[in-house]
Parts: sequence; structure tokens; C-alpha cells
Amino acid sequence: MFNILECKTILVTGGAGFIGSNFVNHFVPLFPNIRFVNLDKLTYAADISNIKVSTQNYAFEEGDIVDLDYLNSLFDKYKFDAVIHFAAESHVDLSIKNPGIFVQTNVLGTQNLLSISLKYGIKRFHHVSTDEVYGDLPVDRPEIKFTESTPLAPNSPYSASKAGSDLMVRASIETFGLDAVITRCSNNYGQYQDKTKLIPKFICNLLTGQKVPLYAKGDNVRDWLYVQDHCEAIWEVFTRAKPGSIYNIGGNNEMTNMQITRKLLELTNTDESSIEYVADRLGHDLRYAIDASKIKNELGWEPRYTFEQGIAETVQYYKSTSKI
Ligand code: NAD
Repeated sequence: MFNILECKTILVTGGAGFIGSNFVNHFVPLFPNIRFVNLDKLTYAADISNIKVSTQNYAFEEGDIVDLDYLNSLFDKYKFDAVIHFAAESHVDLSIKNPGIFVQTNVLGTQNLLSISLKYGIKRFHHVSTDEVYGDLPVDRPEIKFTESTPLAPNSPYSASKAGSDLMVRASIETFGLDAVITRCSNNYGQYQDKTKLIPKFICNLLTGQKVPLYAKGDNVRDWLYVQDHCEAIWEVFTRAKPGSIYNIGGNNEMTNMQITRKLLELTNTDESSIEYVADRLGHDLRYAIDASKIKNELGWEPRYTFEQGIAETVQYYKSTSKI
């Protein structure tokens, strides 16, 4: 069984992105005896200035998980004990415009990391995935939520590529005996998210007097979780879950896009004249809802932030940053 106390060096992929940078900032200072190496390609979604750690147990490496030769040299250099894999192309709208890069990074990149992890005898591989792999749910059946045994039925090129990566992780567990775990989380919000995503885009638009583009009537439902809660859930699963486990992570906080928009209007002192209704996203999933009872019952994890607290902190962050 994986023991974090025996872990000297952890590879974090995608640590310059939204969730990864929050994870690095929180956990690197907490574990000075573990060396964290952040591998990131620095795509449009990354912002290296969001990394606030400069301690000796942290290193940054710019590189591409699609490049197997590069990964070989990196694993050779650092002799990692474990991998926490955040790196991905993550924007659904971009996946509709250009699915190929999503297959490259999310499927092939993940497979490269898996094969190299097997080659170098990695003790634990944590794959960060999404609830979107389950497809969507009817809006009028609130009692139905995604559980860990819900069949994978992804609808967008993004979610299909993430489901593909989940299945490659499964294959490495079943065929080669890799100690790997998967977490599937609902929509995150919080500081350091790229401004092309809904919540930061809407906050920044509203703070600068611009309209916010709301798909269709804003009826699509998502479960929202504060990014700090997601990072803490990942750490619980990474350090304590049995090999081969899958855990859903969610905020038990379903909201329509219109409800989110109204909350942001309130927090930025604007009104509904700032909403611009735009044509719906192709294949727009109606509703995501997470049953996170397994992680609560088995690992004792629950979100610490209410939506009210998390969204207020998020708006405050964007108000205080010069990056809007
Ligand atoms: P993000 O797009 O903000 O960050 C992704 C990071 O990966 C970026 O820093 C980018 O430069 C890096 N990257 C992309 N391609 C790479 C490559 N080929 N090689 C190396 N690095 C590469 O994404 P995020 O929102 O922080 O999501 C992180 C992970 O969590 C993803 O796997 C995503 O599927 C998953 N997830 C996200 C959410 C969410 O709401 N944001 C919810 C559930 C799961």
C-alpha cells in the first residue's frame, strides 16, 4: 500500500494551470521533506506567476507530456516516487473547435505518463479527472446524480478525451498492476482560473463594464466546488485511497448558469442589463450532479467552503488583481 511517508519526490503535471497552481501553492509549503516538480507546457491556460512558492522543495520544468523522450529524461533526472496528473486541455468550447489537440494531450499525454510511470516503478499515480466523463443528467430528475459506477457516456470532445484517459489509467491498473487512483470532480471556481472560463470571464467583464455572454436561457445546471476544497480532496485520495480506487468529488451545490450569473451581478453591483444572451453551445450538457457520498463515508472528506464564502473570495481576488 502506498505510503506518503516514503515519498521523496512527486511529479505534478499541469501545476501552472488553475487547479494545479492552487494545489502547488497549498501543499508544497506543508511538506518541506517532499520535493515537488511541476511539469507544465505553459499553454494559454497557464500562468506561472500564479505560483507563489520558491522553497527548495519546489522545481519547475517546462515540457510537454506528449513528448515521450522528454518524459524519459525527466523521470531519469528526478526519480519520482509518485505522479499527480492535472495537465490537460480543459476548455469544452476549444475542444469543439479543435478536438485533435485534446486527444493528443489528454489521451496520448496521459498514456505516455502511465507507460513511463510503469517503467520507472512509480508508487502511486493520481489521475485528476472530471464528472463530465459521465455525460449529462435530466434537469427534471434531481434525485439522479453521478456515482462512481455511472457508465461513462461523454458528450463533448473534451469529456470524451478525459474518459479516454480514465480508461487508459484503468488499463494500466488492470493489465500492468499500476497503483493508480482516479478522482472525478465537478466544476471548480476560485483564484487563478484562466479568464476564458465562465466564472472568471463573467467577473472580469462585469468589473470592467462589459456584458456577459450567457448561453441560451442559462438553464444548464452544474455542481460547483471551491478549488481549495478540490485540492484537499485530491490529497486525501492520493495519500489514503486503496490502489485502483475511483472517487467522485463534488460540492453538493447545483446551480443553473443563470443563478451563477445573478450572484455575480449582485457581487459586482451590476444588473441584468449586463447579460447578453448568446446561441447555445453545440451539444451543451444539460445537468451535472455529483453524488460524493463515497469520499465522505470512506475518507471523511467534505467541502469546507460554502458557495457564498467561496464565490465572495473569488470575486474579491479578481477585484484585487491587476490581471482583469
Ligand atoms: P487548466 O486548463 O487551467 O490547466 C491545465 C494545465 O495543463 C495548464 O497549465 C497547461 O499549460 C498544462 N498543459 C496543457 N497541455 C499540456 C501538455 N501537453 N503538457 C504539459 N502540460 C500541459 O485546467 P484546470 O482547470 O486546472 O484542470 C486541471 C485538471 O483538472 C484537468 O485534468 C481537468 O480535466 C480537471 N478538472 C478540471 C475541473 C475544472 O472545473 N476546472 C473540474 C474537474 C476536473
